[in-house]
Amino acid sequence: MSKAEPLIRMRLHVEQDVFSVRQLGREVARAVGFEQQDQTRVATALSEVGRVMLAVGVDADVEFTAEPNGVPTLRVAVGNPLPGGAADIGPQLVQVGRLVDTLEVGDGETGTVVRMARRLPTSAPPLTPGRMDEIRAGLAEHIPGTPLDELSVQNQQLIVALDEVRAQRDDLARLNTELEETNRGVMALYHQLSDELEETNRGVVALYADLDEKSVQLRAASEAKSRFLANVSHELRAPVTAVIGLTRLLLDPSSEPLGSEQRRQVDLIGGSAGDLLTLVNDLLDLAKAEAGRIEPEWSDVDLRVVFGQLRGTLRPLATRPEVDFVVEDPGVPRLRTDEVLLVRVLRNLLTNAIKFTAQGEVRLGVRAVDGDIEFTVSDTGTGIPAELHERIFEEFYQVPGSVAVTGKGTGLGLPYARRLAGILGGGLRVDSAPGEGSTFIVRLPAS
Ligand code: ADP
Repeated sequence: MSKAEPLIRMRLHVEQDVFSVRQLGREVARAVGFEQQDQTRVATALSEVGRVMLAVGVDADVEFTAEPNGVPTLRVAVGNPLPGGAADIGPQLVQVGRLVDTLEVGDGETGTVVRMARRLPTSAPPLTPGRMDEIRAGLAEHIPGTPLDELSVQNQQLIVALDEVRAQRDDLARLNTELEETNRGVMALYHQLSDELEETNRGVVALYADLDEKSVQLRAASEAKSRFLANVSHELRAPVTAVIGLTRLLLDPSSEPLGSEQRRQVDLIGGSAGDLLTLVNDLLDLAKAEAGRIEPEWSDVDLRVVFGQLRGTLRPLATRPEVDFVVEDPGVPRLRTDEVLLVRVLRNLLTNAIKFTAQGEVRLGVRAVDGDIEFTVSDTGTGIPAELHERIFEEFYQVPGSVAVTGKGTGLGLPYARRLAGILGGGLRVDSAPGEGSTFIVRLPAS
């Protein structure tokens, strides 16, 4: 039994005492601050324990204690006051255990003891010593009612409990209806969404089909254009070459002498025919590259030889003293690529750099970058505005107002160079700003 001073004690001896202990249990529960439902729980648990104890032929002492410290708790111990009355009643009290926080059946000094505990609600007033005394005094005056009184109280409580059960059942029914409605709503939404998704999918599929068709058309158009360019330029080359040959013949000292005006006009014809031949040749090159008719011939290329060759062939173009033409020693000695195509790309870029640089420097270098090889052709020339960095790779595009320091152009060199860089498995890009010069970068795979 608990060592704290009990609130009240009572002895169960005959069946009628079960009613009394029930009343007392409710009274104690009320006095310490339990709500009505908890009062009934404590009372019911107690009367059930009392009933079981009496049924196995054991008298019982009931002792109520309140624990004010920690979490305030009401404890009830129901124990056999006489030695030798131990009984195995645990299994019969399993249900009762649910009415309280803890229920233990143990062996006390004189036999079986059932200990129950239930925590007080936080709303209960604190159990000060003064209040405990008041509770004790109040309980001492408690006069147990008759079994009939207890029956009527129980009936009242049953009616309240039944009402609550009905209210809960109604709540449950309402919740079920709501749930069903929500489910219907969710299903409807789901159907609507999947319909929309299906429709969107159909749209996307149609769009893709359309795109496929368009890209087939585009490819066909581009092939037709390349074919046309190749044919026309090829057909033009022979007559233009003939015109150049004829002008040379006319100007030859062994031919019949021309008047100075005639000579000037033949010179003009020769010059124009020369320009036309350059254009026709450029067009033919580009058309070939675009038509995929260029098959690279891979070999182990010595870059020192390539750089030496470029230095030799381009030096005559870079004769102005204001411009330094620098071909570095290659930072990468060898590369597996197509030598002819690589030389064409670099020559193209170097020719441009020389063409658009009035003073300063034109420089060619090569180095390894992130597992690739980068050739750089940099100059201190006019530079190109950022918004035109892609446009200059379009056919025939020339930066408006850009005037070549030397030579003329067709606007076909860069698209051709980019095409070739692509055929070599790499790319061509530019980094440039007006007034600061340009750097063209050819990036190729290292192997
Ligand atoms: P083009 O035969 O006119 O040189 P490209 O395709 O080689 O044709 O170049 C297109 C245009 O890009 C040039 O006309 C010029 O305006 C610009 N460009 C190319 N290279 C340079 C450079 N190194 N510096 C400044 N502008 C350049």
